[in-house]
Amino acid sequence: MDENRADETARGTGTQTGEARAGCDVVEVSASLTAFGTSPTRARAVVVIQGTGRRAARALAALGACWALALVSVFVPVAHFVLVPAFTVAGVVVAGLRLREDRRLVGVSGTCPRCGTEQEFEAGGRFEDSRTLDCPRCHQLLRLIAEPPSEHLPGPPRPDRGRA
Ligand SMILES: [Zn+2]
Repeated sequence: MDENRADETARGTGTQTGEARAGCDVVEVSASLTAFGTSPTRARAVVVIQGTGRRAARALAALGACWALALVSVFVPVAHFVLVPAFTVAGVVVAGLRLREDRRLVGVSGTCPRCGTEQEFEAGGRFEDSRTLDCPRCHQLLRLIAEPPSEHLPGPPRPDRGRA
């Protein structure tokens, strides 16, 4: 009978603060899965919110790894003409990508709108508010769309509290 209150509490913990802490926060985001010609199903996306320190550390790690490979490639005959500049540039590119990963998608659970299988989806990389996924069962290309936080919506979220 306290389901409503529990729901409110669960939603209250999912608030997103603008200034992220130095570490990283894992939040669950309500989302929907859509496929061409089907009605959308509900899904939950697990997103890691990475602060500046966390992003900088991951970027530096990528830069260090690539530049270490570039350094080793110096000693490879002939191929070093290609490998050294390639690893040097790759380090900068990957570091730049990681610096921008303020919201990193780590997992999605939901029901495929095409084949109806409830499952966990493989996911990774930056997550703004939508991205494509591949259903491992039916290999349908799905689109994951994050639902906006409820506090941004002006109207009441649900009308089912009539008993007062
Ligand atoms: Zn499927």
